[in-house]
Amino acid sequence: MWLFQSTCVVCNDPASGVCDRCVDQLEPPQVPALLAVESATVLCSYEGIGAELVTAIKYHNRRQALGPMCDALAAVLPRDFDALVSVPAHPARRRERGFDVPELIARRLSKRLDIPVATPLKRVDDGSQQGRGRSDRQGVEFRAEARVPERLLLIDDVVTTGATAVSCALTLGLAGARSVSFVALAATPAPEVAGAGVG
Ligand SMILES: [Zn+2]
Repeated sequence: MWLFQSTCVVCNDPASGVCDRCVDQLEPPQVPALLAVESATVLCSYEGIGAELVTAIKYHNRRQALGPMCDALAAVLPRDFDALVSVPAHPARRRERGFDVPELIARRLSKRLDIPVATPLKRVDDGSQQGRGRSDRQGVEFRAEARVPERLLLIDDVVTTGATAVSCALTLGLAGARSVSFVALAATPAPEVAGAGVG
């Protein structure tokens, strides 16, 4: 019987994907400022249970946790988008994992929000950027393969510096989007900036 029991991916209590108690312990995210992005919705901080959840999904293929997380996002997201666009995974990473988490989130949100998925974005980087030093802001570039609808929701799994989201939003803007909002499961906590005297 236990074989068919569905459990929380974090604490193993009986639950469908992730239990309410674990959801209640998610830390609120600190979302970086995102140039060219209309509004950003992020479920939790990438630490503690939030980090365990995302790790379980991304690296242990425990996709059942995506259901409750997408439910929580769908409950707070606006619905006035023409299409949902996920940030494409690096092809090598996608091959190695066999799936692409932002795409899985897009499919689930599409059902919940009743908004179609569009896939205009392609990566132009080929992995040769690795080892070129930390240039997060220019490390990843995208191109749009087609004209895009006007109001888009861009989807990623984890937002760190926000450079990827901004790069995608700018690309979508050039391809015809008038507004791009952003949604992610988690945001990595901002590093402590000790005495960095900016201005
Ligand atoms: Zn739990």
